[in-house]
Amino acid sequence: MKIKPKITPIYQTSVFKFDDLTELELYFGEPSSRYLYSRNGNPNSDELADKVNEWEQGAGAVATGSGMAAILAALMACCQAGDHVLCASDIYGGSSSLLNQELSRLGITVTYVPFEHLYELSPFVQPTTRLLLCETISNPLLRVADLQRLAQECHQHSLKLVVDNTFASPVITRPLALGADLVLHSVTKYLAGHSDVTAGVVVAADPALAARLRQIGVLYGLTLSPMESWLAVRGLKTLRLRMREHSANALAIAEFLQQQPAVRAVYYPGLAAHPQHELARAQGTGQYGGMLSILLADDTEVVNRFIRACQRFPFAPSLAGVDSSLSYPLGTSHRYLTSEQQAELGITVGLVRLSVGIEPVEELLADLQAALQSL
Ligand SMILES: *Cc1c(COP(=O)(O)O)cnc(C)c1O
Repeated sequence: MKIKPKITPIYQTSVFKFDDLTELELYFGEPSSRYLYSRNGNPNSDELADKVNEWEQGAGAVATGSGMAAILAALMACCQAGDHVLCASDIYGGSSSLLNQELSRLGITVTYVPFEHLYELSPFVQPTTRLLLCETISNPLLRVADLQRLAQECHQHSLKLVVDNTFASPVITRPLALGADLVLHSVTKYLAGHSDVTAGVVVAADPALAARLRQIGVLYGLTLSPMESWLAVRGLKTLRLRMREHSANALAIAEFLQQQPAVRAVYYPGLAAHPQHELARAQGTGQYGGMLSILLADDTEVVNRFIRACQRFPFAPSLAGVDSSLSYPLGTSHRYLTSEQQAELGITVGLVRLSVGIEPVEELLADLQAALQSL
């Protein structure tokens, strides 16, 4: 019987067999020709890495156990003890905690660059500076970085540009094509898309950097498991369709919320009033993604009433699933910043972040309308 599955099966195995020593030598002669041990590589994690590598038009990628593992791999591929990195101030809370609390212990120092200074890095660069870490669309205020300009600025200072493309996804922006050196994702979010996988991926523009990533994945033990890889690959197949619906729904919701008196501000790159709207349009593909933030009254009671009243947006501190949700940056992702840092970033008591799913938009609008009326 010849079994020819249409879909790659889940190779739920930690190790692979060899017929004899000759086969073992063939493996070491050309490791990409077969498999040895799943931490070193597995058909499912390789399939995920290859698929994202294609999406991002890279020279090689590695799938990791989480988005955080992807950030760690990207930073370790470029830095050693004594090095210094630049990081955009508007950054995922986990990224800044990793830099502040863990990489600092390894002798890697960090300087945060405010959004408005990102294109003039001279005052921040030191002789040991290796890279700039930033996000295509930032969390939670949805600020959009001009990646082409950033890549030029970084390369002028011989820095690598490392882009966390989680909020945009490659459907909206492909950072490597704009000059970035590494692009990474929390696959947990849009790439897998169904809130049922924790995973990450890093893609390199350059084959040597891709090989470094692979070694770091193997030696730090960051490799993603076969089952999670398989789920993420399945999610990826609908990425293009999902992003279209996420984006259309979020735009309709942003336009609706803009008109509501209880909503003091709406942060969404698709709105003409967004400070980087033109850039978002030019750099994107006419889609702006499913993430938006709103500013309610800076009053915990008002925020609590809103959270309790939202039926279609459960409070679940993650994002980018097909089912909508909401989160509260001050109490979750940005909890561990100092109050000055929170204030500087505009993360106040009234800020609520919505992750708009792919449900029928009229149901989401009705739900938000009812929640706002109950305030
Ligand atoms: C969630 C997230 C991460 C971390 O990813 P995990 O999969 O949770 O480890 C990194 N960057 C951004 C922008 C995220 O939203």
